[in-house]
Amino acid sequence: MPPQMTPLEPGRGLLYMPDMAIRPILLHPDPRLKKVCDPVDTVDTGLRSLIDDMFETMYDAPGIGLAAPQVGILSRILVMDCAKGEEEEPAPIAMINPQVLWASDELNVHEEGCLSIPEEFNDVERPSQVKVSYLDLDGVLQSLDCDGLLATCVQHEIDHLDGKLFIDYLGPMKRQMITGRMKKRKKEKARTAQSRTA
Ligand code: ZN
Repeated sequence: MPPQMTPLEPGRGLLYMPDMAIRPILLHPDPRLKKVCDPVDTVDTGLRSLIDDMFETMYDAPGIGLAAPQVGILSRILVMDCAKGEEEEPAPIAMINPQVLWASDELNVHEEGCLSIPEEFNDVERPSQVKVSYLDLDGVLQSLDCDGLLATCVQHEIDHLDGKLFIDYLGPMKRQMITGRMKKRKKEKARTAQSRTA
């Protein structure tokens, strides 16, 4: 594992704890996905248990990143695991109050998707490398140099904390089409849930 990665120490027990819970993921359009989130004041047990839930929710989806507003918590927290494929070791990273310290002039186009906008994928252009500072699970300030998929993912997740979605980078026509399809899907989902409980 490259030294710039900061995986959780083994034995911390963050993953697969019996009391972890999968939280429902908010779907676009939802006003909570458009809000600028508040910085976290204290890193405590409650916050760590929320992060446990976020990891479980992300792995269950499955996805490579999840931001707190996607589970309805308007705080500046994100989790990621950009390890690819079965053969690669898991590389969970949790970031509290993340901030982009530096972004490269060089840009990179990556096809992005979002757990809050399922089944929609589009090319988004972003800086190909970024340096990010954040608090870790012990409240200690860390920084991480990101490139490749990790750079795309961390920028996508930090955008969530500012109420920005990847479809905001697309033209208005494309964005409206996706939002229209999502509204329809949400309606169908609500109807199915209703008929199940009826
Ligand atoms: Zn997303």
